[in-house]
Amino acid sequence: MSDCCSTNVNQVTFMRRDEIKARQLPNELNQLPVAVIGGGPVGMAAAAHLVVKGEPFILFEAGNEIAGNIANWSHVRLFSPWQYNIDKAAKSLLEASGWTAPNDDVLPTGGELIEQYLRPVSQLVQIQPHIHYNAKVIAISRKGLSKVKTLGRDKLPFVIHVEVNGDRKTFEAKAIIDASGTWSQPNPANSEGVWTSDELALSDQITYGIPDVTGKHKDQFKGKRVLVVGSGHSAINSLLDLERLKEEAPETEIVWIIRKANLRDVYGGQENDSLQERGTLGIRIEKMVENGNVEVYTSFNIDTFSKNENTISVEGHQYGKIARIDGIQEIISNTGSRPDLDFLREVRTDIESSIESVHSLAPLIDPNIHSCGTVRPHGEKELRQPEHNLYIVGAKSYGRAPTSLMATGYEQVRSVVAALTGDWEAATKVELDLPETGVCSTGNLLNSSNVVVGKTAECCGGAVLNEKRVSVSAPTNSSCCS
Ligand SMILES: Cc1cc2nc3c(=O)[nH]c(=O)nc-3n(C[C@H](O)[C@H](O)[C@H](O)COP(=O)(O)OP(=O)(O)OC[C@H]3O[C@@H](n4cnc5c(N)ncnc54)[C@H](O)[C@@H]3O)c2cc1C
Repeated sequence: MSDCCSTNVNQVTFMRRDEIKARQLPNELNQLPVAVIGGGPVGMAAAAHLVVKGEPFILFEAGNEIAGNIANWSHVRLFSPWQYNIDKAAKSLLEASGWTAPNDDVLPTGGELIEQYLRPVSQLVQIQPHIHYNAKVIAISRKGLSKVKTLGRDKLPFVIHVEVNGDRKTFEAKAIIDASGTWSQPNPANSEGVWTSDELALSDQITYGIPDVTGKHKDQFKGKRVLVVGSGHSAINSLLDLERLKEEAPETEIVWIIRKANLRDVYGGQENDSLQERGTLGIRIEKMVENGNVEVYTSFNIDTFSKNENTISVEGHQYGKIARIDGIQEIISNTGSRPDLDFLREVRTDIESSIESVHSLAPLIDPNIHSCGTVRPHGEKELRQPEHNLYIVGAKSYGRAPTSLMATGYEQVRSVVAALTGDWEAATKVELDLPETGVCSTGNLLNSSNVVVGKTAECCGGAVLNEKRVSVSAPTNSSCCS
């Protein structure tokens, strides 16, 4: 053994004993609350489950109100009716407080979801005192240890660094449930996913999200040549709203760029979708294309933007050739969003490298393989991170995959909270009543030059469902979602 190593043996032994002594504080750790990051539907559901289990908690919400992300698209109507949008633990607490549940079959807007459900949850006496508003989590660590140090870290409190109304504060917690979503971190329109200087320079003319084009943002879009980029539900909502604006102001021109080669892949399950409204979105957008109300560019990948006086030119490549669209006055970018992983830098996570989801979820939700949009039930076990008692849930657990549903998040936090409170039987019994998208066909898997390189998943009905559509067993012979 070399000199340097023999010298270190004593030092290491001493350090370890010292660390163990100083850091083994199980009782103190147990007295700390669970910290929930994000006051969206899934964070609020986590709070409700913690209340039901009698577990102390603190919740940090970056916005000055509950559900800051949903407030951003409050005018948009959801495609799932109330029966899928309310968490069971939250419902039991609300009903005990005299709240009346909305009609199961009605589709709320984002605003109604907040008004009729999320705000009442946030105002419950068991929840309200524990919410910190204008509180943006900017870092999480283990008390006194860097991420590199292993020994004893499971027994240490988490330290949460929070910007509260501009001031930096720290809080301690025994566990973390990160439900901070992805909506506030939009992807750029640029096809490489990089924020280029030309795109950043157009911040006045590019809206990321779903503007209220027939309401408060009407003047911005009325009579203009508007480009929508993207092919998910957000883009479809933006396009259908613009079509309504065009009825009122026929000079409005609508241009649509999608990266997919086939519009069929955008239309979804239509009549076969168990959620009627989600299917209807596909039917309506197909009609809009057929009616010629939108100028469509398929397989178009944006490379650069350039500004010419008041209009924008978009240059890209389409089917292997350079292509250009001129005269754009406003852009709505709906190319999805990505999780904020920065504040998790000092804790140990296992994030899948392509879609940035919780690793074990990636094979279930990877949009390269799955077009179906539904995912089989999963819980604490799949969501477990290398950092003990850290969980990433809700939309953030799906990373860049756009298919998360509230009901999936509710089941995730039910299982996670059960595990955190020692109820392992409930934690492992994962059940989910999720409507299928009806997209069950095999499609071609294309590479970036639109060459067929394989097939997409064959079906979406892998899980065995009982008559109540509760998944009673996970698929064994399919890597497909269910
Ligand atoms: C237009 C649209 C329509 C949709 N329709 C449906 C539907 O019909 N049915 C359905 O089931 N799902 C639908 N979804 C998906 C659904 O909205 C999401 O699955 C759901 O909002 C995820 O909830 P969440 O709590 O995980 O995240 P979010 O709702 O995104 O909430 C995250 C919260 O965390 C806060 N936050 C973010 N960063 C921080 C931080 N650093 N510190 C503190 N707080 C932070 C945010 O302000 C926000 O309030 C729709 C989504 C969109 C965009």
